[in-house]
Amino acid sequence: MAEPLFLQSVMQEKIWGGQRLKTEFGYEIPSPTTGEYWAISAHPNGVSIVANGPHKGKALDQLYAERRDLFGNSQSPVFPLLTKILDADDWLSVQVHPGDAYGLEHEGELGKTECWYVIAAEEGAEIIYGHAAQSREELAQMIEKGEWDALLTHVPVKAGDFFFVPSGTMHAIGKGIMILETQQSSDTTYRVYDFDRKDDTGNLRELHIQQSIDVMTIGEPANSHPDTVELVDASLTTYVSNEFFTVYKWAIHGELSMKKQADYYLLSVLDGQGELELDGQTYPLKKGDHFILPSDCQDWTFRGHLEMIVSHP
Ligand code: ZN
Repeated sequence: MAEPLFLQSVMQEKIWGGQRLKTEFGYEIPSPTTGEYWAISAHPNGVSIVANGPHKGKALDQLYAERRDLFGNSQSPVFPLLTKILDADDWLSVQVHPGDAYGLEHEGELGKTECWYVIAAEEGAEIIYGHAAQSREELAQMIEKGEWDALLTHVPVKAGDFFFVPSGTMHAIGKGIMILETQQSSDTTYRVYDFDRKDDTGNLRELHIQQSIDVMTIGEPANSHPDTVELVDASLTTYVSNEFFTVYKWAIHGELSMKKQADYYLLSVLDGQGELELDGQTYPLKKGDHFILPSDCQDWTFRGHLEMIVSHP
């Protein structure tokens, strides 16, 4: 019998974190500066544990190693994706991630292409998305002189926005924003600028200027264009589809039966409640649930009011 894999995952404290993972999603948080919930992760820095069914208690990385058949017999040596919810109570550092070639050569892990679905944003909230330098030399000069206002491209954001952030993109999530991030399973970040903030031991966080200049893309980032299909009881949006991941929003208001069209799916319920029917079993779903539909799930039905971000490699 095919079963979904519901997951219990790891919180990460960050100097820019807040309390909304508790107040908005009801998760237990370790401190008032909790920045990230690694909701679906097989990354060694925070691995999800299966919470139900025959694999209950198994770490996702271990399950991926032992039961590759549940993941489309994927050739990828590591579980390729990572889903996070971030609560930015303050600006994250201005940063860039390497691509796979640079990441594997210099850090021993994949690069990081990521994308963001904005769950909530305060009035006036902004991100940094791209930069104004016209060449690598100009980029290096502007960073060296600290010309941040001229260099960094600020973009206003609101709930429901989506941003595709390929490796090499200068970016920062701004104060007052909650996002769901779908990314390659990597934890390599090159910090360009950290607003001269000190951590709780009074130290500046490390910057990685040369690596940042090496991997930065010159030219404006190209955001993806969402494509929505309206059905009677659902609206299905595809945000982005590329060599790393495909990301959707499935908004269901009623009942929707689906057949599998990918090897496996990662799902995050961001709002509403309802149920999943699969192989004659019914599973309740509510805001804050994260689960995987593995490869043996052929078809299923969702019922209720559900807003989910869904992805697959
Ligand atoms: Zn990032």
